[in-house]
Amino acid sequence: MFQRCKIDFKPIKSIFHKKVVLQIKKKTMKDNLATKDSLTQSTYSRLRTALLSCQLVPGSRVNTKELAEKLETNVGAIREALSRLTSENLIIAEPQKGFRVTPVSLKDLLDLTATRKLIEGECLSESIMHGDVIWESEIISSFHTLVRYGAGPDEQLGSEEWNRRHNRFHDALTAACPNEWLLRIQRNLFEQNERYRMLSVNLTAGERDLNGEHKALMEAALEKDAVRIRVLMSNHIQLTTDALMRLFDEKGSLRLIV
Ligand SMILES: [Zn+2]
Repeated sequence: MFQRCKIDFKPIKSIFHKKVVLQIKKKTMKDNLATKDSLTQSTYSRLRTALLSCQLVPGSRVNTKELAEKLETNVGAIREALSRLTSENLIIAEPQKGFRVTPVSLKDLLDLTATRKLIEGECLSESIMHGDVIWESEIISSFHTLVRYGAGPDEQLGSEEWNRRHNRFHDALTAACPNEWLLRIQRNLFEQNERYRMLSVNLTAGERDLNGEHKALMEAALEKDAVRIRVLMSNHIQLTTDALMRLFDEKGSLRLIV
């Protein structure tokens, strides 16, 4: 009787053990996927920064193996990031040839400038119409941090930190625009323009009163003067384009770096 009621713990132990192993395996797979995702994401972010800052020269071919070594990542992550960047028009995928950094050209710059003036103008008008005191505070605060950074001895125009503060100020101006599509297009155009702006940094050093230009934009926003701010923003965009035109030859191709 006793014998028949005896429970054999062996199989239970064994099942439990299998379950634990399975859970550990699942966790390891999950961890691996998370590591892969974060590697792909960080590769994408670093490549994007290199493209927007023109460290990857516009028009140049991309050597995926070389790039993987430079960024200390793998070719798979580089390829995934490059595919993603083609949809942002920063990379061109060429059949049988691989990837190329999207070139810059005079025509592209002029088209971009004209479109930016239109979209920025619309976003600013909408933003001024809907902006409240919180919107005003962020404009004042972001202007202050931008101007104060430029006043230090070690800071330089076009550095990563200056760019971050400059982006924050421009974002603040249009932040109250309620039209999400307008804002998405504006952000995309602003980023496309970053490559051109980076090329213009050395050309305009000492020539422009950028603090003055940004101050005038801030004042027009706070005075809710939509007509004035559209003119000021149009001039702000055009001055960068004017400086950049020196970089292109008579055929409209970049003459200095490609
Ligand atoms: Zn600006």
